[in-house]
Parts: sequence; C-alpha cells; structure tokens
Amino acid sequence: MDVTPILEALNDAQRQAVTAPAEPLLVIAGAGSGKTRVLVHRAAWLIDVEGISPQSLLAVTFTNKAAAEMRHRIEALLDIPVNHLWIGTFHGLAHRILRRHWREAGLPQSFQIIDADDQLRIIKRLVKGLEIDDDKWAPRQVQYFINAQKDEGLRPQHLDDEGDADRQQFISLYQGYQEICDRGGLVDFAELLLRAHEVWRDNAELLQHYQRRFSHLLVDEFQDTNAIQYAWLRLLAGKEGIPFVVGDDDQSIYRWRGARVEHINQFQKDFPGASVVKLEQNYRSTATILDAANAVINNNTSRMGKKLWTEGAEGEPIRVYSAYNERDEADFIVGRLRDWSDQGNARADAAVLYRSNAQSRVLEESLINARLPYRVYGGLRFFERAEIKDALAYLRLISNRDDDSSFERIVNRPTRGIGARTLEAMRSYARANSCSMWRAAGAVASGELAGRAATAVVVFLNLITTLAKDTEGLDLQEQVDHVIHASGLIEFFKKEKGERGETRVENLEELVSAARGFSPDPAEEMSPLDAFLSHAALEAGEGQADAWEDCVQLMTMHSAKGLEFPLVFLCGMEDGLFPHQRSVADPQGLEEERRLCYVGITRAKDILYITHAEQRRLHGMDNFAQASRFISEIPAELVEEVRPRVQVSRPLSPRPRTAGHVAPGAEMGVRLGQRVRHGKFGDGVILNCEGQGAHARVEVNFENAGTKWLVLSYANLNLM
Ligand code: ATP
Ligand code: MG
Repeated sequence: MDVTPILEALNDAQRQAVTAPAEPLLVIAGAGSGKTRVLVHRAAWLIDVEGISPQSLLAVTFTNKAAAEMRHRIEALLDIPVNHLWIGTFHGLAHRILRRHWREAGLPQSFQIIDADDQLRIIKRLVKGLEIDDDKWAPRQVQYFINAQKDEGLRPQHLDDEGDADRQQFISLYQGYQEICDRGGLVDFAELLLRAHEVWRDNAELLQHYQRRFSHLLVDEFQDTNAIQYAWLRLLAGKEGIPFVVGDDDQSIYRWRGARVEHINQFQKDFPGASVVKLEQNYRSTATILDAANAVINNNTSRMGKKLWTEGAEGEPIRVYSAYNERDEADFIVGRLRDWSDQGNARADAAVLYRSNAQSRVLEESLINARLPYRVYGGLRFFERAEIKDALAYLRLISNRDDDSSFERIVNRPTRGIGARTLEAMRSYARANSCSMWRAAGAVASGELAGRAATAVVVFLNLITTLAKDTEGLDLQEQVDHVIHASGLIEFFKKEKGERGETRVENLEELVSAARGFSPDPAEEMSPLDAFLSHAALEAGEGQADAWEDCVQLMTMHSAKGLEFPLVFLCGMEDGLFPHQRSVADPQGLEEERRLCYVGITRAKDILYITHAEQRRLHGMDNFAQASRFISEIPAELVEEVRPRVQVSRPLSPRPRTAGHVAPGAEMGVRLGQRVRHGKFGDGVILNCEGQGAHARVEVNFENAGTKWLVLSYANLNLM
C-alpha cells in the first residue's frame, strides 16, 4: 500500500505520533507545531494503513469550521469521501447522540436547542415571576451559576446549600429553570453535554454500543475541555477505547467557562502508560514572531514548559502603532489592509483580532467606508440577528407548541394587540398549572380574558395552527418562505424605515436561501425542519451569507484559536482592555490573558501588527489607557514603532520655524517645554507636538505617570 502521502511532510516526532501503536497517546506541544496536522494524518493512517473503519473513529474539534476543515483534509489525504466518520464539536456530537436517543434522554423527539439569549430570557421571566429582587438575583448571574453547575456535571439535587440562604436561592432558581426547559423540550448548550453524558452513564447497553463502535477517539485542543466533556470522553473510552489527544497548556483560554488544563495531567493518571509525544518545531511563523510569542508566554509561572524553534526566516519586525484613539486605530488598520489587498494579496489571508466583540463596530465602520469586504466571526452573526430569530421562533413553535421562549418572542411580533396584561395572565396561568404558555394561552382566551384581548390571542393561536397545517408536506425552503410571509414578518419589517428595515427583509430572504442550501444528514432521524433549526442554533455565525467572497477576517482572539493567517493585526492592546480589567488583579486571570495573547501572536505567519489607542471610547465611556503590558514583554529588538504617515513634524527639540509655517500645537496655544496639568496624570512638561487641528497631539512627560501622547482636543490640559 502506498502510504507516502500520509507520512509526507512530517518530522520524526510527528511521524512517531501518527504511526503510534494502538495505545492512549498525548501530544503536548506549542502553537504551530503541527498538532492538528498530526491528528488529521493519524485519522488517515488508521483508516488507510491500519484498516480501521471510518465508522470507528470519533474526532472532536473546537469549532464547526475546524471540523469541516478536518474532514476536508482527511478526505484529501485518502482521496475518498469519508461520510461515516464522526467529526464535530463536543456540542455537535452530544446533540447527535440526543437526537438518536431522545427517548432514553427523556426528551421529546422535537426538542429544541436554545442559545444563551433564549436562556437568559427564560431566567428573567422566572426571576420576575417569583417576585424576588432582580438586582440581587441578576439573571446573568443566575445563568452563569446554572451553566457552571452543568459544566461540572451537577444537577440541582447534587448541590448542597451549605446552610447558605443565597446559595439555596440559586439552587432553587436552577431547579425552576430546568423545569421550564423540561416542560418545553428545550435544551441549552451546557445541557447538551450534560444530558449526553447522563444518557450513556445510565444506559449500560447504549454505552456499550458506542464503546464498541468507537475504538479510536481523536481530540484536538484538549487543554480546553471542561469537566463534563472530559467525563464524557472517559465514559466513551471505557477500558478498551484508544484516546489520541493533542493540546497545548499555553493555549488554555477557556478557564472562565469551566475548561480545566489539569486534564492534561489527569489524562496521564486515567490512562496509565499513555505515551507522550512532544513537538518542538514550529512551521507556522517567522522567527521574529515566534521569539515574541515565546518571550511573552515566558512571563507565566504555571507552565509545563516547552521549547519552540523554527527553521523559518527571521521575517519582518513586529510593527507597533500607537493611535490617538480608536478611530485612528481603525483607520490605520484599514489603510494597511487596503495596501495589502492592492498588492494582490488575498483579503482572506488577513485577520484583525480583538479582545472584546464590542471593538468590531468601529473597525467595521472604517472597513465599510473604505469599501473593503470583511466578515465578522462571532459577534452578531446571521442566525443571531433579531429578525432571523423571529422567523426561527415561528418555525420552532410550529414544530413544538410548548417552546415557551419562542412563544414569548413572537406572540406579539408583528404587533397584534397582545399586551403586557394579557401576557401576565398567561404566565401566571402557566405557573399555576405547570403548563406551557401555549396551553395557558388557550385556557385564558376562553376564560378570564375580556373580549378584545381574547380575540387577539385566538388570532395568534389560529395563525400558528394554520401555519403548521399549511407547511405540512412542503420542502424545507418552501416552509421557510411561507412562514416569513404568512406570519406577517416581511410586511412588518418593510414598514421599518430606511436601510435598517431593508436589511432585515434581505436577511429574512437570505434565510430562505440558507434553507435551500441546507442538506440534513440523512442518517439523522429528524424532520428537515428540526434538523435545520438545530443547525441554526449550533452553527450560528459559521455559515454567513457571503462566505464565498474574498474578505478580511474579523474575530476575537478566542475564536481565532487553531487558525493561521499570513497577516495579523492585534488591536486594542491596552491595559484594562487586554489584559482585561477584571483579570489584572488576579494572578491566575492575568496568566490566562497572557495565554490568550500568546494565542493571538502565534496566529500570524508572516506579518504581525500590534496597535493600541491612547484614548478609547468603548461602551459609551472615554478611557485613557496605557499600552498593554504584553507589548513591553516583547523584546525591543523585535519591534519597530510605526509613526503616522501624515505626520507633520516630530521635532526632538524646539527649533525656529520659518514664517508662514504654523508650529504643531501653536494654534492650540501650547509650546514645547510648557508645563501643564492633567486631571488624571498630574503635572508634566510638553516634550513634543505633532499634527494639526483635531489631530494635534502632544507628548507630555508627567512627573508621576511617565510620558504619554495625548490628543489636545480631548485631553483638557491646563496650561501653567
Ligand atoms: P495550534 O496550536 O495553533 O492549533 P498546531 O500545533 O495545531 O497549532 P498546525 O495548525 O497543525 O499546528 O500546523 C501549523 C502549520 O504548520 C500548518 O500550516 C501546517 O500545515 C504546517 N506544518 C506542520 N507540520 C509540518 C511539517 N512537518 N512540514 C511542513 N509544514 C508543516
Ligand atoms: Mg491546532
């Protein structure tokens, strides 16, 4: 048999892992060392050389995008399609198990997945209904509590209130929330994992079936598994299963979501005799980028410690740009992106990474102004847009009348005269009778409600019933098309003025195209509509409208994990934003932020820009900020500072000007050497001026705060 393609372009350590005997194996290695590559080649090796059926492999990756990529790469290596190979995220695979075994899982066949938004809405309603203080029992906090318990595999009955009344309340809210979900056949993300775990744990035969089926378990990004995911893997592996896991402790960035990097050590205890392979050669980045990444991560104390080297070229220096504010930063980045694109490079090879989703808006504005196509991963994704969620809620209610969160979303959308009082009547009926809103609506409409309110409710109930009847037997795409029109949504948004309404209508129409392009897995036993709704909930954002267009990639550093790009911008590198404010005081939190920075830097193959702004308006507040401490952790010799291109002058010392030339800053009444006072930084002396008008800025040496560049028009300096 010809095994060359599978073993081609692998170094010795990689080859050792790919061809290892059928025993538990752990690959632990730094960024860009070929872990994912090894996993892909291992799968191909098992199928092609060891003769293992693709059906016996289970591969777990971190995003749906990575899963698709992995399937594609395995198929390319083997030169055949591998349909029966299970590749997916933990959530996706758990979902699959629950669809197949909904009975054992105690779920209705048409159960629906709810996202974080829906979850929050249910919790809000619950807190409100109990008439407890929603400042103290902030829905977001309750949500966090519930998900954290689920991630640890804990149900309310496993929790001890420890004699603490507050904790008791949290536990009972968890309980109440779960009852609502169970009644409506609603499954949140954490529940997918927990339930899939319980189904196996409590059904010996079923578990055995899967244990026999999956002899080989391949896991990427192992450092970011949480307790329930790890427990799920262990159950599945049983005594015979052979896990092959790859990870990097330095890239563990989901501790805040329950991920436990300790699983790397736990693995070696749970699978004694597991071999460990280390990869040390980096194939992704230039030596300069790699040195910078190594230097930054070296500041962390809790590390397993790895060396990473490259044979690659030294490459270009890392460029650091200090912007006046976030707009200047965005314009700078977009300018460079434009150059990149004009030089004939693919736009998709460039990525702009940021710490927080909210940063994307200003970048997007600049990109739109420059007419540079871009795509945001994460953030407000297609399936999360309000109008799309409205349409999906109709579809979900058609499929499952007891879905309360969908009911609440659309009962009065488009407006049909169902007011807060009517809703309240339905809610209290639902609470008192432990039934769904749908049933409650029927009951109150023929009972306590007065004429007009009752009619409005009946109209709504009839609408849903008619929609269900009229879409029966239609193609998925026809169903969606029918529903967006007959529900009145299209008409409703057409009335919304201007571009916004237009976009919403376009998005709804796009949903019909999405349905047309959707091909459900024939192996799944569910209706195409249910399959589509699950797909929408699980893959939100990963199948955006214009995926085919060559466009710049925007995403958070978290979602960039595992990816690589020739050109990378890390923006908003300011203390308080990155590292994030809430982590600076906590040493463990700070180390996690630093790992995130390491992930960010190591996404770059050839060129890396780092930008920060001296002043930033975020969430409606203006903040002054210092450059991120992570920038100063990069050795100076690897860095080149970029000055603004339209710089007027940057005198190092005062010098006379020729007549007719206005010295920068002069129009604002400042001069070099002048003493000034700043509200926050205290007293200082002006060292430098540059720029004119709104862009005029000065460098001030503050006695206590060091030197800073400030924008004159914002800085409110007092001359002394
Ligand atoms: P991360 O930690 O960021 O997920 P990784 O360890 O999974 O990184 P890969 O993405 O598998 O690394 O590999 C990084 C890059 O190096 C890829 O472009 C890959 O194709 C390339 N690469 C890996 N090993 C080799 C090799 N032996 N020869 C040539 N290229 C390689
Ligand atoms: Mg990888």
